[in-house]
Amino acid sequence: MMQPVDVLRELSDGFGVAGFEEEVRGTIDRLVSPLADEVRTDALGNLFAVRRGSDDRTLMLDAHMDEVGFIVKWIDENGYLRFAPLGGWDERIVPGHRVVLLTRDGAKRHGVIGTAPPHIVPPEDRKKPIPMEEMFVDVGATSKDEADGMGIRIGDPFTIHYPFTELREGYVTGKAFDDRAGCVVLIETARRLAERSLGMNVVFSFVFGEELGLRGARTAAYQLEPDLAIAIEGTIGADMPGISPDRQPVRLGLGPAISVADRSIVVSRKMVATLEAVAEGASIPYQYKLPTYGGTDAGAIHLTRGGVPAGVISVPCRYIHSPISTLRLDDLEHTIRLTVALVEALPNAFF
Ligand SMILES: [Zn+2]
Repeated sequence: MMQPVDVLRELSDGFGVAGFEEEVRGTIDRLVSPLADEVRTDALGNLFAVRRGSDDRTLMLDAHMDEVGFIVKWIDENGYLRFAPLGGWDERIVPGHRVVLLTRDGAKRHGVIGTAPPHIVPPEDRKKPIPMEEMFVDVGATSKDEADGMGIRIGDPFTIHYPFTELREGYVTGKAFDDRAGCVVLIETARRLAERSLGMNVVFSFVFGEELGLRGARTAAYQLEPDLAIAIEGTIGADMPGISPDRQPVRLGLGPAISVADRSIVVSRKMVATLEAVAEGASIPYQYKLPTYGGTDAGAIHLTRGGVPAGVISVPCRYIHSPISTLRLDDLEHTIRLTVALVEALPNAFF
């Protein structure tokens, strides 16, 4: 049987740049189908795995499938690609990496984001970040026609690709833990609940386009009409040199982070208290995500229709929005356990 670490490896290595989630959605579909009463996709590419409960109410568990990436915006006469971001990147970390590009016919092409060697960069320029508009991808084409012959077109997405690696036992790195870590939590929760009967209906909602402004969660919540929702994220682990504790939204090794407020939602005190009580009742360690860093799908979900009570729990991940996100597997496991405990407790604990 696949362990959470195996699922995380497969999902993080999969392709799923925002707006181009087909591959990762297919993987999730294959993994959750045996664990749900019904799996369906919607018009824009969200994927829902439904477990039916004994009453009419619905709990929505949300994770986003997409990852930050880039899109080709120009192919020059020498075959170099110019690009724009899909999602929030720090331009300073983009040059000097290998990329994987997905063509229209589904082929993967490899390239590098080239940089001028220090020998030819004037000393005064070496201290300045390179604007993304000046960066380029080299795919080995020597002309626009050659790039065309490789199947590369304007509009093709690509991502900086680093394969999943265990740095040491229980501590792993990969390109897309934001939010494939949340996708793993949903899949594992579905697996652990597969043999149990449920109170509320539970919809495991895997959404597109979070990194472009919570797009999939909005349309998902509208059609699911949940009575309650929890967004599950891989969020900003910042216990690293040079960051004071008051600016570390979450830390690794302290268990799942319960959000009290981020830029997209102020979580109700009732919801926070419920999450705390469920964690404490199941002896699961937790921490708070410090306000008000980042936004989450809960921001879109709680404003749907007449309003949906929503909370957020997160797997602490360092270096998100870079190709080298890292996490501790014990934090992932504790987040899975908390989510399982929530599904079992929430129908009675919240209402
Ligand atoms: Zn995210």
